[in-house]
Amino acid sequence: MAPATFQALRGTRDILSPDSERHRALVDVFAEQARLAGYGHIMSPIFEELGVFQRLGDSTDVVSKEMYAFEDRDGSMIALRPELTASVVRAFVQHRPDSLPWKAWYEGPQFRHEKPQAGRYRQFSQVGIEVLGSDDPFIDVEVIALGWRFYEALGMSQVSLLLNSLGDATCRPPYHEALETYLRDRFDDLSEQSQATLEKNPLRVLDSKRREDAAIIADAPLMVDHLSPETAEHFAVVRAGLEALEIPYEISPRLVRGLDYYTRTTFEFASTALENAQNAVGGGGRYDGLAESLGGKPTPGIGFALGVDRILLACDAEDVFAAPTTAPDVFIVDLTGGTEALALADQLRQAGIAADRGFDGRSMRAQMKVADRSAAPWAVLVGEDEVAAGTVTIRDMHGDTGQVSVPRADLAATLKNRLHR
Ligand code: AMP
Repeated sequence: MAPATFQALRGTRDILSPDSERHRALVDVFAEQARLAGYGHIMSPIFEELGVFQRLGDSTDVVSKEMYAFEDRDGSMIALRPELTASVVRAFVQHRPDSLPWKAWYEGPQFRHEKPQAGRYRQFSQVGIEVLGSDDPFIDVEVIALGWRFYEALGMSQVSLLLNSLGDATCRPPYHEALETYLRDRFDDLSEQSQATLEKNPLRVLDSKRREDAAIIADAPLMVDHLSPETAEHFAVVRAGLEALEIPYEISPRLVRGLDYYTRTTFEFASTALENAQNAVGGGGRYDGLAESLGGKPTPGIGFALGVDRILLACDAEDVFAAPTTAPDVFIVDLTGGTEALALADQLRQAGIAADRGFDGRSMRAQMKVADRSAAPWAVLVGEDEVAAGTVTIRDMHGDTGQVSVPRADLAATLKNRLHR
C-alpha cells in the first residue's frame, strides 16, 4: 500500500517562491515605514497563556469562537495568538519600558478558526504597530498616517480610510444605555443573532450585516453624537491632523470593529479594488483600558494590524507591487563535470553576485535549458579549453552582445560592470 500523502490543513497555505519573496518584500517596506517613524521591532511568542487573549473580551468572535486554545502538557491553558495587540500590551506590562510613549512594530502569523474562503485563512499574516503611554491625538494621526503611507509605498491608491470615535469611560456608558434601550424596544424585530449579541454587547449589534437589522441600525443612536466634550475635542484634533496631512477619510459612525477593547479613535482601511466581503485590509484604534486589564498601570494605547495576505490580493487587483525577481545574476554552465562551477559559483557569491549552476554532469544543451529557465541575464561557460587558457566565456542571455572570453581573474569585476553594480 502506498504511504499516505499529506496536504496543508484547511485554511492554511504553503507560500512558495516568488510569492514568499513578495511577502517578505512587503514586510521590508513596512519595516522601513516603521523605522522612519521611530518604532522598534518586537518579536513576541506565537502562543501565550489563554488569559492574555481572554482579556480582549468574550463577546468578540475572535476570542469566543475562533481561538486555537488547548491544554498544554502540564494542564495549563494556552492559545495560539489570534492577534498581536494583547501580546504586545502583555509584553509592555511585563517589561515596563521607562521611556514613553513606547512604540513597537511587528509582523507574523496569527491563528483564527474561521470558515476559510478567498482572503480569509486560519493562519494569516499581519504587520502592525502599537503605541503605549500617550493619549495625544497627534499619536492617533501618526499611527493612521503610517498605515496610509505604507499602502502608498506599495503603490496602492484604491484604499479608503473609515474613521469613528467610540467614546471613553465617561461618555460610553450613558451611550450604551441609550443604545440598549433603543434596541430592546425593537427586540422582536432584530435578527436572532443580533438578539443574542445584544445580551453580550449592544454596541456589536451595529456590526450586523443582516437585512432584518438594517433599518433598526440605520436609526440607532450614534456614539459620535454622544461624545463628551473632551472626547469630541480629541476626535476633532485627529480629524484636523489627517486633513493637515491631506489623508482623506470618511466618518463611519457605525464602525465598531470586532474587538471589545477599543475606545475613542477607531479606524479601518478598506480596499475598493476588492470584493466587498473581504475588502478590509487593516484596522485599529485606541484601547485605553487594555494595559490595566492585563495587570498594568492605566496606560493609554493605540495601534493597528494590517492583513498581509489581503493587502497582496488588493495589490493584485490594482496591478501594483509585483513579486521581486528571483532570477540569479548569472548561471554557470560547466562542461568539465562540475568542479569548475563549484569554485566559480563560490567566488561569484562571495563577490555579491547571485550565481546558480548546473548539476548532475548534464550535457551543454541540457544545462543551457536550465540557464534559460533561470532567467539569469548572463551565463558563464567553462570547458576544458577555458580551463587550460585560464579564461571563461560570458554569454549575454537576453541582449545582443553575444559572448566574450575573459580571464578568470577578471570574471567578477566584468560581471559587476555588466550588471551595472
Ligand atoms: P483584525 O485583527 O480582525 O482587526 O484584522 C486586521 C486585518 O487582518 C484585517 O483587516 C484583515 O486584513 C486581516 N485579517 C483578519 N482576519 C483574517 C483572516 N482570517 N485571513 C486573512 N486576513 C485576515
